[in-house]
Amino acid sequence: MERKVFQLGDVVLMKKNHPCGSNEMEIIRMGMDIRIKCVGCKHSVLVPRAKFEKNMRKVLRSANNMSALDSEGGPSNIEE
Ligand SMILES: [Zn+2]
Repeated sequence: MERKVFQLGDVVLMKKNHPCGSNEMEIIRMGMDIRIKCVGCKHSVLVPRAKFEKNMRKVLRSANNMSALDSEGGPSNIEE
C-alpha cells in the first residue's frame, strides 16, 4: 500500500471535480483538518484529513521542489 505524502503548499489532483470544473487543489493549511483551495475558482474548503486522503489522487506539484535546488556537489568545470 502506498502512503500518500503531501505537505503545505502542494497542489494536488482530486478524484472528484469541484463544481467549477477544476480538480486541482492547493493545500493552504495543515492540521487535524486540511484546508484546500481550488485552483480554478480560489474557493477554499476545510476537510478532515481522512476524507482528504481518500479524495486526493496524487500530488501534482510539490512546494518542496521549488526550494530544493541542487546545491550539493562541487563545480564540474574547473579552470585554472
Ligand atoms: Zn472550484
